[in-house]
Amino acid sequence: MERLDAFMARANAAYYATHDPFADFTTAPEISQVFGELLGLWAAMQWQAMGAPPQVILAEAGPGRGTLMADALRAVRRMVPDFAAALTVHLVENSPRLRAVQAAKLPDAIWHDTLATLPPGPLLLLANEFLDALPIRQFVRRGAGWAERYVADGAFVEQPAAPLARTAREGEVVEVDAAATDLVAAVAQRIAAEGGAALFIDYGPATSAPGDSLQALRGGTQADPLADPGSADLTAHVDFATLAHAARAAGATVHGPLPQGIFLARLGLFQRTGALARTQQPAVAARLLDTAKRLAEPDQMGRLFKVLAVCHPGLPIPAGFFE
Ligand code: SAH
Repeated sequence: MERLDAFMARANAAYYATHDPFADFTTAPEISQVFGELLGLWAAMQWQAMGAPPQVILAEAGPGRGTLMADALRAVRRMVPDFAAALTVHLVENSPRLRAVQAAKLPDAIWHDTLATLPPGPLLLLANEFLDALPIRQFVRRGAGWAERYVADGAFVEQPAAPLARTAREGEVVEVDAAATDLVAAVAQRIAAEGGAALFIDYGPATSAPGDSLQALRGGTQADPLADPGSADLTAHVDFATLAHAARAAGATVHGPLPQGIFLARLGLFQRTGALARTQQPAVAARLLDTAKRLAEPDQMGRLFKVLAVCHPGLPIPAGFFE
């Protein structure tokens, strides 16, 4: 018997070590080069707002194929060369397999297993679909108290749990993303002390609510999350309200969560995509415009995906978070 978060950590470590996750799902940077370009330019704007320090860490947590960072660097080299000259790229990735894929695109990067080993100093951190892969715990309302979900032989087993300050009806599941909350709090504390800003993009509701959001994707289709650990990508919705609260408590300023579609549109997703499309044949141009819609339309990725910024309290409201 294994607590759900231990099971999820083990299953995902095995999955990312042995699979190409991008055979099972498609992420925003794999849909359009404009996604990474806009995030790179967002980081450049934060660097300027910080007073353009001569040295800055540009880090990404869970960089996947390295596409987002490669697109970001191309854009900042062209548009903000002083930022490109000041930054050092750090990647937080614990899969040796994906590190090799990233190294082919980003040969000058420095890799870390966790954020804890990043060197000190001002930090600009990007993380897309990273928090959703971190292990969660699930509690079930039972009578006047709570039970916690463990996994044994591919099924849930409930064990008595300590009181939990959450509201739910009998039998409802409440999720606690302790790993994501601790990580965001640690980033917030560091940014409050040493300067910088972080951008977390993931899917989940803006307000905490009961519900079982654990899901598994195997070969592009939904699968049983408890069967055959390591064969599927396990994710859960990110609890943005709890993350925002933890970041504020750690001394940072928080903006959002804001729907991804609004954020990207304000940063110029459609203008940049339109500029790319004008250089292409009509069929290719139409496909490009479709990718922008896929990222931004409310019924596609635009609403379920949210953007949360965690900033040093001295920074102005970052781009994308005002009209
Ligand atoms: N950001 C990428 C990839 C998302 S997949 C994109 O948008 O395409 C999740 C990524 O997080 C993978 O690179 C995976 O190996 C990494 N990852 C998952 N859990 C991790 C952990 N605990 N520590 C470090 N990296 C992790």
